[in-house]
Amino acid sequence: MTDLLLQNVTLIDGAGSDPQSGMSVLVKDGAIAHVGPASEVGQPPVADAIDLTGHTLMPGLTDAHVHFGLVGVNAGSYDDDDNLVTYTLGAIDNINIALQEGFTTVRDAGGLDPAFSRAVEQGLISGPRILPSGSPLSQTGGHGDHRGRYDNSPQVSIPGVLAATALVDGVDSVRAAARQQLRLGATQIKVMASGGVMSQMDKLDSLGFSVAELRAAVDEARAAGTYVLAHCHTSPSMNNALDAGVRSLEHASILDEPTAARVAELGAFVVPTLLVIERLAESPEAEGVSHYSAMKLEQVRGLMPDSVRTAREAGAAIGSGSDILGERQSGRGGELVHKARLLGPMGAIVSATSTNARLFNLEDRVGVIREGYEADLIAVAGDPIVDIELLGDAANVPLVVKGGQVVKNAL
Ligand SMILES: [Zn+2]
Repeated sequence: MTDLLLQNVTLIDGAGSDPQSGMSVLVKDGAIAHVGPASEVGQPPVADAIDLTGHTLMPGLTDAHVHFGLVGVNAGSYDDDDNLVTYTLGAIDNINIALQEGFTTVRDAGGLDPAFSRAVEQGLISGPRILPSGSPLSQTGGHGDHRGRYDNSPQVSIPGVLAATALVDGVDSVRAAARQQLRLGATQIKVMASGGVMSQMDKLDSLGFSVAELRAAVDEARAAGTYVLAHCHTSPSMNNALDAGVRSLEHASILDEPTAARVAELGAFVVPTLLVIERLAESPEAEGVSHYSAMKLEQVRGLMPDSVRTAREAGAAIGSGSDILGERQSGRGGELVHKARLLGPMGAIVSATSTNARLFNLEDRVGVIREGYEADLIAVAGDPIVDIELLGDAANVPLVVKGGQVVKNAL
């Protein structure tokens, strides 16, 4: 691998420090070798040099809530008239797009078989580092039960290809399902702890799983050295999840102050998902939003911004997740644009870099520009602190480096 010198940038380190202008970054063997003033870091021909005058260099973005495998409408894994080849190509397309948009590490929040993540590691497909959850676990009639009311057929996964939601009831079944996902390569376990917007048989404020069932998933995750993320829209569901030891609360749409204080005290995370809510609300027909879902969507949309503020005031860690669905998932950086309205541009950037890295237990490898870290770097044409909207359109991200490899260069 050739060394790489990125010169004359304004640097945003991902840790929340003030941007620094006139900086250069030297990349060696896939890692960040030296960060400093342009004059000090070295000159070509020591390394392949890219002059980035006028650009901002940031850590590669991260997304804690992707669904690369949910290429069909309504979070089903694939549509009836598709086949597994179409499905697989659709998922790979989503994986490619995320990297080209500047996302270098993501956590799949369910639906993508871990085999895709291994295919990226092996260099067979181009994509971000993927932390897969495999099949999410849902109770019968919960958010992950996509069957019609009178359809009792099982939801079938094809291990190695398709990770449909596992419908499990009772402590022993949850335990077995968690073990199975870990065996297949899940790096954390996803559970559905409340009703959802796009599911037709549950109310938003229904609870998914008993605390004992959730605890079984947490015990198994901990035994494997990892943790559980839980889909929860409401405070009662978040409290159940926290009682069980869940670490990552997804959506966290209707968060009251006492619950936010508990999140902070326990060192847990909330991962609001603002972009998907806006997308679904903008074009409900195209996104397949039923009348029932539209009602639930409005409730969530009205309250999620307040919940983000409540989390911030309580000092809770706030991760960044887009939750976008379907085919050709693009515009992922829009999550930061929405987040910036609540946390400011730097707050949105820190959330999508170093905070997510802590959530992923990768804080010593990714999420900041620091010597010894993975060389996951993006250049933005302009200054995202002045204009965060730049990150909403990947055309403004002309350079993407992952693990020291230039994977996009449109300079
Ligand atoms: Zn989701």
